[in-house]
Amino acid sequence: MSTYVSLSQSELADVHATLTELFETLKARGLKLDLTRGKPAPDQLDLSNGLLALPGADDYRAADGTDTRNYGGLAGLPELRAIFGELLGIPVANLYAQNNSSLEIMHRLITLAWIHGTVDGERPWGAEKTVKFLCPAPGYDRHFAITQEFGIEMIVVPLNPDGPDMTVVKELVANDPAIKGIWTVPKFANPTGSVYSEEVTRELASMPTAAPDFRIFWDNAYAVHPLVGDAPSDPDVLGLAAEAGHPNRPYVLASTSKITFAGAGVSFFGASAENLAWYGKYTGLTSIGPDKVNQLRHVRFFGDAEGVRAHMRKHRDLIAPKFARVLEILEARLGAAKVASWSEPTGGYFISLDVLDGTAKRTVALAKEAGIALTAAGATFPHGEDPHDRNIRLAPTFPSIAELETAMDGVATCVLLASAEKLMSQPD
Ligand code: PMP
Repeated sequence: MSTYVSLSQSELADVHATLTELFETLKARGLKLDLTRGKPAPDQLDLSNGLLALPGADDYRAADGTDTRNYGGLAGLPELRAIFGELLGIPVANLYAQNNSSLEIMHRLITLAWIHGTVDGERPWGAEKTVKFLCPAPGYDRHFAITQEFGIEMIVVPLNPDGPDMTVVKELVANDPAIKGIWTVPKFANPTGSVYSEEVTRELASMPTAAPDFRIFWDNAYAVHPLVGDAPSDPDVLGLAAEAGHPNRPYVLASTSKITFAGAGVSFFGASAENLAWYGKYTGLTSIGPDKVNQLRHVRFFGDAEGVRAHMRKHRDLIAPKFARVLEILEARLGAAKVASWSEPTGGYFISLDVLDGTAKRTVALAKEAGIALTAAGATFPHGEDPHDRNIRLAPTFPSIAELETAMDGVATCVLLASAEKLMSQPD
C-alpha cells in the first residue's frame, strides 16, 4: 500500500469507498466498547483482594503502638511512608500518607495557595491580578480541569519524550511573575509515556523564576508502573530543588490508585518541612487525621518496598500484552498509510496517538458512531482544545484483549476514513 499523501485524487476516492464500506460493516456490528479512561481491569483489582481481609480482626496497632482505629496522625503511618519513601526517593520526614486521592491533594494545594498564599509568596494567589500555569501537553485532563476551575491561565508547553521543552519553560518563567506553577507527570506521563530525564528535572528544580513561589506539581502517579522490566528510579526533585536554593518549589504527589484499588488506595504528598507544616496546619482543620486502618492494611499487604515492586510486576504481566496488541494493530493497520504516529510507552497507562492534523475530532466522532468510546479529542490539552486537532489518548488497560482487538481495529478504520476524507477535501 502507498502512503495516503502520495495517492492521486482518484486513488483516494477508491480508498475512501472501500473504507466507507468497512465502516458500515463496523457500525452494523452494534459494538459497545470503551477506551476512554485509564482504569485498572478487574483482574488487576483482583491482585489486591488480599487487602479485603486485612488488617484482620485483632490487628489495628501501628508499629509504634498507635491505635489506627482512632483519630489523629495527620502525617500518616510512618511505616507506610517508609515503604513509599524508598520507592519515590523521598525521606520519610518529607512524605505524608493521606487518603485515597492524590488529585484531591493537588486541588487542595491550589485552594490553599489561593486563599492563604504559599509559604514564600507575597500574597494569596487569589489576590493576584493574573495567575498562570505551564501545561506541558499532551497532558492529563484532570490537571487542566483544576486550573481551569480557578480561572488560572494555562500556557501550553511542548512535551518531549524526556520532559517539557526546557528552552520554552525557562524563558517563560524567568520573565513572567504571574506564572506560579507547572503541571508535570514525570514518569510514564499521561498520555505520552514521557519520562523526565535527570537533566530536565535539575533544570526545573534550579531555573530562575520571576515568581518567588513558583511550584512544580510533580505528579508521580505512575512511579512504579513499568510495562517493561522494572521502573527506573526517580531523580531526587526535592533534593535538587533544595540544593539550588528552592526547597519549597516541588510538590510531589503519588498514590496507590493504580497499585491496589483505584477507589480505596492511599495517597502521598512529598514536600519540604515548611510546605508540609503549611499543608498540615490547614488540612488539620478539615480532617482529624487520614484513614490509618487503610494505611495499616497496605503496610501488611506489601511488607516492604520490594513487596510493591513484586506486585507491580504482576500488573505489568497482565497489561503489557494489551499494550503490545494495540501497538501491533496500529502498525498493521496504519503503518503503511503513514497517516498517524503513536507513542510506545515503557510504563504507565496510555498510548498517545497522533493522527493527521485536523482529523482527531472526526476520528473520535466516527468511532462513537461505531459504538467505540474514545477519550474526547482535545482532552489532552487545556480547555479541551488541541491546537492541531491531532491527539487521541488510548487507554488499553480496562477492556479484555478480545474487546481491545475489536476496538482498535475499529479505531484504525476510523483513523483511515477520517484521513481519506481530509485528503480528499484538500487536493493539492
Ligand atoms: N495523576 C495522574 C497523572 C493520573 O493519570 C491519575 C489517574 N488517572 C491521577 C493523578 C489520579 O490520582 P488519584 O487516584 O490518586 O487521585
